[in-house]
Amino acid sequence: MPEPGRGHHNIQVETIKPKNASVTLKRLWNYLSVHKLKLLTVLLLVIIAAALTLVGPYLIGKAIDDYITPHDFKGLFKLLIVLITAYALTSLFTWMQNYNMMKIAQITVRDLRKDAFDKLQVLPVSFFDTRSHGDVMSRLTNDIDLINNALNTSLTQIFSSIITLIGTISLMLWLSPLLTLISMITVPLMFITTRLITKNTKHYFSEQQKALGSLNGFIEEDISGQKVVKAFVHEQEEVKRFENTNAELRDVGIKAQIYSGVMGPLMNVLNNIGFAVVAGAGGWLAVQHVITVGTIAIFINYTKQFTRPLNELANQINTIQSAIASAERLFEIMDEIPEPDDAPDAVELTNVNGDVEFKNVYFSYKPGEPTLKDVNFHALPGQTIALVGPTGAGKTTIVNLLTRFYDIDSGNIFVDGYDIKHITRNSLRSSLGIALQDTYLFSESVLDNIRYGRLNASDEEVKAAARMANAEPFILSLPDGYNTVLSEDATDLSQGQRQLLAIARAILADPAILILDEATSNVDTRTEQHIQEAMLKLMEGRTSFVIAHRLSTIRQADNILVINDGRIIEHGNHVELLKQHGFYYNLYMSQFANIKKLDGTVAER
Ligand code: ADP
Repeated sequence: MPEPGRGHHNIQVETIKPKNASVTLKRLWNYLSVHKLKLLTVLLLVIIAAALTLVGPYLIGKAIDDYITPHDFKGLFKLLIVLITAYALTSLFTWMQNYNMMKIAQITVRDLRKDAFDKLQVLPVSFFDTRSHGDVMSRLTNDIDLINNALNTSLTQIFSSIITLIGTISLMLWLSPLLTLISMITVPLMFITTRLITKNTKHYFSEQQKALGSLNGFIEEDISGQKVVKAFVHEQEEVKRFENTNAELRDVGIKAQIYSGVMGPLMNVLNNIGFAVVAGAGGWLAVQHVITVGTIAIFINYTKQFTRPLNELANQINTIQSAIASAERLFEIMDEIPEPDDAPDAVELTNVNGDVEFKNVYFSYKPGEPTLKDVNFHALPGQTIALVGPTGAGKTTIVNLLTRFYDIDSGNIFVDGYDIKHITRNSLRSSLGIALQDTYLFSESVLDNIRYGRLNASDEEVKAAARMANAEPFILSLPDGYNTVLSEDATDLSQGQRQLLAIARAILADPAILILDEATSNVDTRTEQHIQEAMLKLMEGRTSFVIAHRLSTIRQADNILVINDGRIIEHGNHVELLKQHGFYYNLYMSQFANIKKLDGTVAER
């Protein structure tokens, strides 16, 4: 999807219409109404500034009639000073109005951002699992930006345009209804031309946006897929395909620019025709002594002032509409249902032993499609439980339920004999340590990334944890050691190194119950050994659930839960399960025994 608003033009490609503008406006008003007094000041400043812009041309007219024609230069000088003061004051008030509105906008947008971000923190995991991160991000950044823009400029401009428009027409009518009518002749002409041109411009800009989107996509794919392109020697084909897309963009780009380029000059011509008509008709009326020469000057200025707010209004209404649609998208997030509160009788879990029991647990992500069916097991404190089974069997789901990322449909989960529905979420999660293979690392120093496990840990404690996790050797080899700042999502670390950091984090957190997810991707044998050792140290004295992929881990487990299609179909230790000659036996034979045959020596991955 191309980003809206990208490119070097200020014509909106398409205005996204809000669904329920009045409700959204009311909610926005809740944020704005805190600044009622300031808003009133702004409104007042807008009125004053708009009134002052009307005074200028009027004074020029007066200068001609009262001082220039009768050769009263002293009076003219006095009026000149008044005129300069009026223009200076206009600038001052315009600046004051912008300054105040900008402040209101910034505060409002800060409040919106804060509320939206606070909301994100209380939303359940299911919210993030079911939504594209890009979409959520765009609501909190782009949409808020659009709201900011609208508040910053559009609001005052709309006020000011309306006031100027009404003021100008009233003054013109008061001075000469006939000349007012004559000066309006070009307005419908302008209106029709603008509409005709913008219709075409919008079409070609939207085409241009689409072409730009495909070009961007093409380049992005080409860069990400360079290895594939090179490996298959498809460089020439890529260049040809790129040329096509590129040419398409050129064609629509030229058309879009031609249409939008015509607009300015054409409007100028129409404006000037308007001036000529006013000047001609005005001159004739002056000769007939119906109006004065000064009035002609006033009118020529006013006709100029009169078309500007008309154009501005048309533009600003688009901006405001998009901003309301943006606010709607933002409020949608704020209206999401947060994680339910803890039960009123929920207990704080302290001094956790690590006894975990699942009893007749049923769970479905989507109603009617059970993911887990009648899951039962009991893990005693300190035991290691291996979760084994094909991809999509439900291993991760069991973890998601224990952490209460999702709540079960029926059955019970007990920790130390308490049903987890009656334990506060925070104390439950604090007693659990999670080291998943794709652990998120923040773009902060290694030290702080490990410290995420326990925020009040001292540097020494962090380093001790890293040593226990066998992570210190590789950390010290980084450019700044522990102080090395990781790149975004730590793409500069290998999978194995990231896992070592995850383990260090969990060691520091020192939880009673541990959830581990063994890396599926291949790491080199040395790192592998390091991870294995670190994991064993970490698991000591804790109840550990391991989503296991390595034979050595599975062998050492006190209990292996073999999961298939949402059910525990077999359980027991390695030897017991092999004896059964069932699912586990076959899994073992297909996954692990083959490797033994292939390299002849090592049976373990
Ligand atoms: P495993 O960890 O054993 O590979 P999972 O527990 O991740 O399997 O998934 C079990 C099933 O639930 C799969 O069919 C998967 O597609 C589905 N599933 C996993 N997470 C979600 C989710 N957030 N929403 C809907 N379905 C999901």
